[in-house]
Amino acid sequence: MFFFSAHIKTKDKYTGCMLGAAIGDALGKQNEGLRRSDIRRRAVDYAGAHTGSPGEKLRAGQYTDDTEQMIVLARSIIECGSFDIEDFAIRIAEWGAGALADPVRKSLVGPSSRAAIVRLNSGVSWRESGSDIPSCGSAMRVAPVGLFYKDMDEVESNAALSSLPTHNSKGAIAGAVAVAVGVRCAILDMECSDIIKETCSRASKYDEALAGKIELSYRRRDEEPDEAFAELGTSYFVYETVPAAFYCFSRHFDSPQKAVIEAVNAGGDTDSIACITGALCGAGHGAGAFPKRWLEGLENRELIENLAEMILEISVR
Ligand SMILES: [Mg+2]
Repeated sequence: MFFFSAHIKTKDKYTGCMLGAAIGDALGKQNEGLRRSDIRRRAVDYAGAHTGSPGEKLRAGQYTDDTEQMIVLARSIIECGSFDIEDFAIRIAEWGAGALADPVRKSLVGPSSRAAIVRLNSGVSWRESGSDIPSCGSAMRVAPVGLFYKDMDEVESNAALSSLPTHNSKGAIAGAVAVAVGVRCAILDMECSDIIKETCSRASKYDEALAGKIELSYRRRDEEPDEAFAELGTSYFVYETVPAAFYCFSRHFDSPQKAVIEAVNAGGDTDSIACITGALCGAGHGAGAFPKRWLEGLENRELIENLAEMILEISVR
């Protein structure tokens, strides 16, 4: 009986992580690219994105490239039975070719991914294809690595590897490590201060500056969001998106709903900040902690749930 209920709780945390990422992304897209001061009404529900934003052609409840890439990564892990860099690079190249050819989705793809996708599809090896722009593309999609691997060394090394085909700067690699390690720690129900400690100690092996900034975001958790976001930054650079997400996560450690709303309205790269925040909170609290309307209004909810459950299934074998 104990095992049974523990399994249900774990399943809720796995689905919560991936659904949380997609929910944050879908909510956050409506403010993507807006300055914090230009957000007139705080977004708390799904809606279309503002005119001129990358996601303006998407419907309410639809997510962006962040979740699409996370799904590509999850599928690769499931079909290979573990993280396989060769397979993932092929899939991300295929996904990217499709996204760049689609008039609705092409403007969603960030600059590093875009350049890397073109290189991968022209035959360049994943070892050489990654861009050195320190953007957050590999951090925003990495959650499934933190779900699949239980050993923290494996979480770290595979998260770092998963960054390379598109993002090979030390900041981007450290960002992917930080988010995957954060997800694993949250699955383990660790205290917030311990999550930050483990995350920063792992990320600092790749980039001390990013680790320092995440630590700062934790120290600023009781500071008002206006000041905190002004100090941390909210652009698509990994030095801003990832610490901004850890700030939202730490500030509202007991309330996933508040954490995601904080991220969605941070300004800047709100879809990615909220995607990362949602993954961390969902891993900690489970899907049941998100409002019903967010779960019900989400595009492809069942598909995302199924992928998370399959990752759990193969990870416990
Ligand atoms: Mg996006």
